Amino acid sequence: MTNAQPKASHFINGEYVEDTNGQQINCIFPATGETIATLHSATPELIDRALDAAKAGQKTWAAMSGTERGRVLRRAADIMRERNHELSQLETLDTGKPLQETLVADATSAADALEYFGGLAGSLTGEHIQLGDDWVYTKREPLGVCVGIGAWNYPTQIAAWKGAPALACGNAMVFKPSETTPLCALKVAEILHEAGLPAGVYNVVQGYGDVGAALVSDPRVDKVSLTGSVPTGRKVYAAAADGMKHVTMELGGKSPILIFDDADIEDAVGGAILGNFYSSGQVCSNGTRVFVQKGIKDAFLARLKERLETVVMGDPRDEATNFGPMVTANQMNIVLGYLEKGVAEGARLISGGKRASRDGFFIEPTVFADVTDTMTIAQEEIFGPVLSVLDFETEEDAIARANATEFGLSAGVFTKDLTRAHRVIGQLEAGSCWINTYNLAPVEAPFGGSKMSGVGRENSKEAINYYSQMKSVYVGMGPVDAPF
Ligand code: NAD
Repeated sequence: MTNAQPKASHFINGEYVEDTNGQQINCIFPATGETIATLHSATPELIDRALDAAKAGQKTWAAMSGTERGRVLRRAADIMRERNHELSQLETLDTGKPLQETLVADATSAADALEYFGGLAGSLTGEHIQLGDDWVYTKREPLGVCVGIGAWNYPTQIAAWKGAPALACGNAMVFKPSETTPLCALKVAEILHEAGLPAGVYNVVQGYGDVGAALVSDPRVDKVSLTGSVPTGRKVYAAAADGMKHVTMELGGKSPILIFDDADIEDAVGGAILGNFYSSGQVCSNGTRVFVQKGIKDAFLARLKERLETVVMGDPRDEATNFGPMVTANQMNIVLGYLEKGVAEGARLISGGKRASRDGFFIEPTVFADVTDTMTIAQEEIFGPVLSVLDFETEEDAIARANATEFGLSAGVFTKDLTRAHRVIGQLEAGSCWINTYNLAPVEAPFGGSKMSGVGRENSKEAINYYSQMKSVYVGMGPVDAPF
């Protein structure tokens, strides 16, 4: 029996807090289906406490110099790296993702964000604008209290990708993890406080959508950053607009990868694997519509099938495993429904196509060929290990079809033709793009979507613009020239 019970459900004002009056949240290990922790949703009283703590904590935090704030974030990054193994094990229990992945993609990515934004914190300045004798100076100021709301696929990373830039800019944060993966954000809060963060500056409250909604509509909140689906994004954006709050929306996708005849076949197959099967396909930026030019299609499918046969599906706690389960039984059933639709609508099954015969919520990595643009599996975000191959002949046709979606998160191109690579990527309607690779998201690069996939950018210097605002101060050197 695995036990991952945290000290308490919430982390508010620098300490763990429990209130068993809140609705129960069962945390289930997806590889076995066993309950590994029981938490409680935040009651209105706890939400109130977290927001009051954030409001007060933000004042103390913003009064510190950027360098001092940065030092805390960088210390937290060091602690995270020292504890990477233990944090990765927790991430694996929380999500079911293989330890082989979590050891390199979760706490390490969170540590990168804390280190990067910690390094930037001391150099967040405004500018001086001379206007004759008069002048203007600008100050980069924090927004105030930020609410972060997470999805379940990257619980440590999302908690840090939102927290690090928010805190670097002098804001406080109240973070609500996904009810599906409530464990990891508590560790982010704990480590930040161990690194010297003043109480109240980073709080974690658990809950379902109603807790998220209560946070978003609270007048004490100045900014909301959501990672989630488009339908939730619509609701959260609308609620935030009502209070004229700042937003970052990191939402879903149905991203295209365009593979041209001249592509390096191993790289193209590798990119398609990274873009469809990492985290068992539960990645927002996945390139699930793989457009393959006709001349390379058979070779591509044959090599993809061969490489998929080497997948190691199994207990995600075993470092040899490289393919884990779906996060919940519900998500598994959603994906199984898409597999049925794929077959029913006439797609040709190349690999996988069913639930794996083992405990837990495993689905075989699945490839469909001969997928057409109107099939459901080519139109809707599946969020599972399902790769659709669509054929194309000309560059223009591929670009037009790749863009024929309401989403615009990501896109990829595989070709050896340098000018084509840039010409094509320049025309794809997506925020995060790759040429001859896929799904790498280093903290130094902006990340985020266009169209229905989102608003704003995470990571890089660009994220600073979404967690701060400019104050402009005009300084009159006199005399004042009034009309009467
Ligand atoms: P979801 O939209 O169901 O939930 C996201 C979060 O929003 C959860 O914490 C949930 O409790 C909360 N929520 C639900 N209703 C709310 C409301 N009315 N007000 C406030 N909060 C509310 O998404 P999910 O199923 O957890 O995650 C999968 C989705 O997230 C996919 O669409 C995926 O593409 C997207 N995603 C996007 C990114 C990105 O960076 N673009 C990253 C990961 C996941």
